[in-house]
This record gives sequence, C-alpha cells and structure tokens, in this order.
Amino acid sequence: MSASTPPRAIQHFIDGRYVPSANGATFEKFSPVDGTLMAHVSEAGEADVDAAVSAARAALRGPWGRMGVDERLALINRIADEIERRFDDFLDAECADTGKPKSLARRLDIPRGSANFRAFTEIVKTHHGQVYFKNTPSYGVLNYTLSKPRGVIAIIAPWNLPLLLTTWKLAPALATGNAVVVKPSEETPSTTALLGEVMNAVDVPAGVFNVVHGLGPNSAGEFLTRHPGVNGITFTGETGTGEAIMRQAATGTRPVSFEMGGKNPALVFADANLDKAIPELLRSCFLNSGQVCLGTERAYVHRTIFDEVVERLSAGAAKMKIAPPSDPDAALGPLISQGHRDKVLGYYRQAKAAGATVVLGGGVPAMEGALANGSWVEPTIWTGLPEDASVIREEVFGPCVHLRPFDDEDEAIQLGNDTPYGLTASIWTQDVSRAHRVAGAMDVGLCWINSWFLRDLRTPFGGAKRSGIGREGGNYSLEFYTEMKNVCIDI
Ligand code: NAD
Repeated sequence: MSASTPPRAIQHFIDGRYVPSANGATFEKFSPVDGTLMAHVSEAGEADVDAAVSAARAALRGPWGRMGVDERLALINRIADEIERRFDDFLDAECADTGKPKSLARRLDIPRGSANFRAFTEIVKTHHGQVYFKNTPSYGVLNYTLSKPRGVIAIIAPWNLPLLLTTWKLAPALATGNAVVVKPSEETPSTTALLGEVMNAVDVPAGVFNVVHGLGPNSAGEFLTRHPGVNGITFTGETGTGEAIMRQAATGTRPVSFEMGGKNPALVFADANLDKAIPELLRSCFLNSGQVCLGTERAYVHRTIFDEVVERLSAGAAKMKIAPPSDPDAALGPLISQGHRDKVLGYYRQAKAAGATVVLGGGVPAMEGALANGSWVEPTIWTGLPEDASVIREEVFGPCVHLRPFDDEDEAIQLGNDTPYGLTASIWTQDVSRAHRVAGAMDVGLCWINSWFLRDLRTPFGGAKRSGIGREGGNYSLEFYTEMKNVCIDI
C-alpha cells in the first residue's frame, strides 16, 4: 500500500453476493505501516445484519441443510484447496491489513487458514457418538447420541491473527453443518472478505457463509450478537468485550464460546536449557510484535540465572529488525493501529513511572520516509517492578516483557498464578518431575513445557479464569458447534 494506491471499497458478503450497507454507511481502514487510507469498508446497520442472519437461516433450510456429511466435507476440503491456490492474494491482504512480516504470515497465518479446514474435516469424519445399553427385566434399554448442527453461528473475530482465528471457528462450524455470519475486526476486514470469493469459487451454497463488517458497540458486532436468529456465539478478543457479548447473548439464552485475553507467565528454572529457551522466549515475547494472546508478558527466572537471561534476551531482542512486511529480514512489524500504539506507549510510560529499569526499548523507533507515519514501537524489556504495577497486572498486547527473579518452585508457581487471567504458561526446565508438577499447578488452559505455541489442532484450546469460557479444538469444537440429543429405546 502506498500513498499513490487509491483506497479500495470492501463490502459485506451476504447470500453469496458482495453488497454495500443498506444505508450506505462506511468506515475507514488505515495502513499500520505508513498511515495511508487503505479502504472504505461498509459498516453494517441492523438491516444488513438481519439480511445476513436471514440468508443463513434460509441456507439451513436449503440444499446445505440436506447435504450428506461426505459431500459437505469434500466441499470443505475444496475451500482449503482454493485458499492454497490463492495463497498470495491472502498473504498480500493479511500483511497490508496488519503490517506483519510476510515471512511470518507465509509460514503461520495463511497455511493455518487452510489447515483449519483440513483438520476439521478429519475430526468430523472420525467423530462418533455414545451408546449405552442397560438391562431391564424385559430385555434392555438402548441409549445413543445424535449431534445436529446448532444452527446459525455468529463468529466475532479479532485483528491479531485474522485469517487463522476466523477459520479456526469457521471450519468446525461449517464442517458440522451450520451456517455462519462472521464479523471480522474493523482493523482487518480483507482476508475475511476474500473468503466470500473462495466460497463462490467452490460452490458453497449462497447464505451458508456471510460477512458483515463494522465496529463493536452499537454497530455490526452488537447487532449480530443481539440478533434473535443467532443460535450460538463464538468470540475471540478482549475480556471486557467478552463481558459485553455475554450480556447480549443472555437475551434468548444463546451459548457462547470465548477465547479472551492473557497475561501469560514463563517460568525459567535454573536447570533450563537456555540455548533452547532463549530463542523460544524471544518468539513468545515478540512474535507478531507481541500481539499474540498466548505470548509471554511476564517472565520469572531463577535468581542464579537471572542476569544471564536478561542479558541474552535483550541481546536477542535488540537484533530483531523492525521493518515493513515486504522486508525478508523483518522480525517486528508495526502495531495494528495508532490507537493501539497509544495504548501500548501509555503502558511504557506507566512502567517507567512505577520505577522500572528499562533494559531495552521503551519508545518509538526512528523510521524513514512514509514509514514514520506507521504505528511502530520498540521491543521493550523491563525489570524491577513490583507485582502490583499495571504492566504486570494488565494485558498490554505489545512487544514487551517484565522479568523478575524467584528463589524456589513454590514462589515461581505463586507468582505465575497471581493474575486474573489464565490462558497459557510456559515452563523451562530439564527436570522431568518438576515439569509435570509445575504444569499441574498452573491455573491455565494451556501449559507448554520447553516450548511455546506448539499446536496440535485436536487438543483442547482455551483459557481458565478471565481468559475464556469453554474449549475449542478437536472434539471440543464439535461440542460447541452441535446440539447433542439422546435417543432412548426400550427394546
Ligand atoms: P476486541 O475485543 O477489541 O475486538 C474483538 C472483536 O469484537 C472485534 O471484531 C470487535 O469489533 C468486536 N466487538 C467489540 N465490541 C463488541 C460488542 N460490544 N459486541 C460485539 N462485538 C464487539 O479485541 P481485539 O483488540 O480485536 O483483539 C485483541 C484481544 O484479543 C486481546 O485481548 C487478545 O488477548 C485477545 N485474543 C485472544 C485469543 C485467544 O485465543 N484467547 C486469541 C487472539 C486474541
């Protein structure tokens, strides 16, 4: 994107067609790389959301609702084929919207976009219900379960891994036979918009997949999650937004599945293999410029290796190249928007004011030419803060981490768990017993040992405490996207 490229128009995708808002409303999307106006995006009002939900309901009554499982799963594999065929279009769109390095999106975001569809076709294919037989005086009673699609699913997505996180929910929703209305983040409308072209190219029936663009409160997000025609709401985003959506979902008692914020600890024990731990810690603190819900913002390090870890981590972070998406050596892109940069820089100031030692960064890097208008920040490492400092209690969602020493295992566990969040923890030790003991003690939904962001899509994914409600992944996704029925026969 450059100043000379005219802004595009991005429209809703409803009932198989791209359409503007009924009232013509739009909002502006700016490039995080250089601040230029990239697109005028249609902003859905209640009428547009209603049209999308009605199209989805009609699709459930049409050929999609009657389609056999094998045919449906074959169609879903063709969605994956088509995303792979249009890999470069998705890559360009994702990197333009987010500013993330192409090298990152090429190996993470776009491949996972298609892999999600392939994984859930396999999971649905091998999924089975339950059967119970119980003797009675006459002969016996047979109970078995049947799972039906839940109906119309609203998918509310964030901006940090847009295609990856949208398809993480879209794939199981479609594989189990639902129809969907997706509301992508206002910051990242492009790849979800492109999925409409994919659906039409492979002949997914009109109305099965719908997209409405817009903001959250009093806009597309709220209108969709309030809509009585929606049977289930799956959301990824901030915990505060989840609370608002939960209130909206209460009307009509719709089920929710929430993947929300984190304030994830890394616990680095004295016997950790630092040659492996340091590069992985760098990834967990700074990947996607720290805008990963699973990322590490608090590291607790055994006192005997504390100075070494601080030094090696800062030396590694200082070498990370801050550059636009097309630079093959880019390690850090900009933050998603000027608004988010203001928030992150606010935390950088609060850390200093609270007495942090700023080991690295803490400000805005000098960028050349038009890039100076982008939303860049420096990777930042602090030590010396008390545990009640705001940057230790609250999710910053930027490229930053605070390190603090600990003296024994109990203290490390207590510090790691002392947070309202409970998404992930990573444990670095070569002592097998300690690894299992500490993993068992952490109050989180996902615990990595000597690794980070290593995913098997069949495993349960989600957060404890204020980081989420429910689990998705593997058969856990199928529980949310289907309604299970028990059938009981007196034989
Ligand atoms: P956000 O909560 O601001 O927005 C997420 C989505 O919710 C957007 O589409 C937004 O328009 C919509 N929304 C906002 N208010 C709404 C309302 N009242 N009703 C309906 N929809 C509404 O989150 P974000 O800034 O886009 O993403 C960053 C957050 O997401 C971080 O907190 C991060 O930890 C979290 N996250 C969690 C996971 C996970 O798996 N747990 C994954 C990625 C991101």
